[in-house]
Amino acid sequence: MKNQKLKSQAFPPIKKDDKVLVTVGKDKGKSGKVIKVDRLLHRVYVENINIIKKAVKPNQTAPQGGFIEKENFLDASNVMLECPNCHKPTRISHKILESGKKLRSCKKCNEIIDQK
Ligand SMILES: [Zn+2]
Repeated sequence: MKNQKLKSQAFPPIKKDDKVLVTVGKDKGKSGKVIKVDRLLHRVYVENINIIKKAVKPNQTAPQGGFIEKENFLDASNVMLECPNCHKPTRISHKILESGKKLRSCKKCNEIIDQK
């Protein structure tokens, strides 16, 4: 049984549809699109990363049952956001617009990552 204690560190500024680079584990060095984030459990799911085979019971689409391949979660601290501007894994800083809207920006190239 894995240690399920709640993570105390803040969730990184990663959102669905972001491109992230995996920095730890068997898929280290691969990047992909975030398909789901779970802030409570500090997890992210990344397209085609950390694939597991999952047994399924027989149903209408698979009358015999079988296995499906499915993305398993990664710990949110094991991925880094990849900047859509400079295409490098980067840390994020926040810029606050005059309107009060908070946007993420890349610490490497300083470009805004979020749509304004
Ligand atoms: Zn950048």
